[in-house]
Amino acid sequence: MATATETPIDAEKIRRDFPILETIIHGDKRLVYLDNAATTQRPQAVIQAVVDAYEKHYANVHRGIHWLSEQSTNLYEEARVRVQQFLGASSPHEIIFTTGATASINLVARSWGDVNVKAGDEILLTEMEHHSNIVPWQQLAERTGATIKWIPITETMQLDLASLEHLLSSRTKLVAITAVSNVLGTINPVAEIVKRAHAYGAIVLVDAAQSAPHEATDVQQWNADFVAFSGHKMMGPSGVGILYGRESLLEAMPPFMGGGSMIRRVTLEGFEPADLPDKFEAGTPPIVPALGLRAAIDYLEQVGLSRVAAHERVLTRYAHQRMSQLDSVTLIGSDPEIKSGIVTFVMNDVHAHDVASRLDSVGVAIRAGHHCAMPLHKKLGLVATNRASFYLYNTLEEVDALVAGLAQIHEWRATHRGRRRT
Ligand code: PMP
Repeated sequence: MATATETPIDAEKIRRDFPILETIIHGDKRLVYLDNAATTQRPQAVIQAVVDAYEKHYANVHRGIHWLSEQSTNLYEEARVRVQQFLGASSPHEIIFTTGATASINLVARSWGDVNVKAGDEILLTEMEHHSNIVPWQQLAERTGATIKWIPITETMQLDLASLEHLLSSRTKLVAITAVSNVLGTINPVAEIVKRAHAYGAIVLVDAAQSAPHEATDVQQWNADFVAFSGHKMMGPSGVGILYGRESLLEAMPPFMGGGSMIRRVTLEGFEPADLPDKFEAGTPPIVPALGLRAAIDYLEQVGLSRVAAHERVLTRYAHQRMSQLDSVTLIGSDPEIKSGIVTFVMNDVHAHDVASRLDSVGVAIRAGHHCAMPLHKKLGLVATNRASFYLYNTLEEVDALVAGLAQIHEWRATHRGRRRT
């Protein structure tokens, strides 16, 4: 949260940095972009960093003995150091550039999982995970014969921490949890779960896809073993993500993908892997996206993550307050005072896709569907929900536009229903 001395974000001023937010759609509707949990928009500084990279610095990294390649390599490695600082990691060797959170989690499941998980072992997940933090573990369980267990959610949409007492045991090899639910907005007590899992010798992976863009991340405070997130959800380019791993674990893990750059030596008989972090970056890495991510981190930290979190809290609180006054809307998620900037809801008698497409017609972009969290939706007894999600450039007026759009849908539905009855 913002400290008492911090000034609140001036979202109108911030918006001027984002060219796409000026877009007019459907003839005369100003775009109201409330789909930030799916992906965020980019400020000019990030767009310019990408343009600069292609115009001034671009060559392949770690290969050429020429000026441009050295420049490109230096910038790429500087970006790694920037990510290290952003996360509070001990060394740049702990930062692996991947293509996104999904790729990062799959890397751990394949490389760490295949070596360390065996039949009879247990993997502990939560009922609020995104498919990206479910399916790689189901695939690992299929390969190894391990069993998956689930930390349930409570009626207040929190994790049931009391269940850890019987779910954790010496059989638990890995606990994989999301820091923030992409559906419920719930902020999970990562450090506490890590502590309890470590007491049983389990390794913990944190899916930070929905937390890293919105609140400061300190891997030391979490004491997590692996942390995964994506650049595109924090104003960076798509196609780049991060895997943070504890150095001792990464050192012991075999490379996941083979190819150029990840080797020290290759002979007809075999290969010797390179040192960290190259060992896990086979092939040409996301060079330009990594430089864009660096610019996004610079932008984010210049604004201040605590101010971003405080701004989103204001929007979330306001959205809850206004939306709870709409009879036909049911809000789904944890208490707005303690959750992140995600507001998920359903409208009585209106399919989530109809809600989203009617809102789109008035310029409001939100998400509809299962949000890649089918097991959570099943638990909630729902097939699909709607989700509005905020970021630093959203305004109270945009929440008003969402609420006005929902009120219109309510009216439309009431009229439509009335007509059908006659
Ligand atoms: N985890 C969570 C919680 C997410 O919200 C998402 C993206 N919706 C992912 C993982 C996957 O991220 P990506 O598609 O960028 O790999």
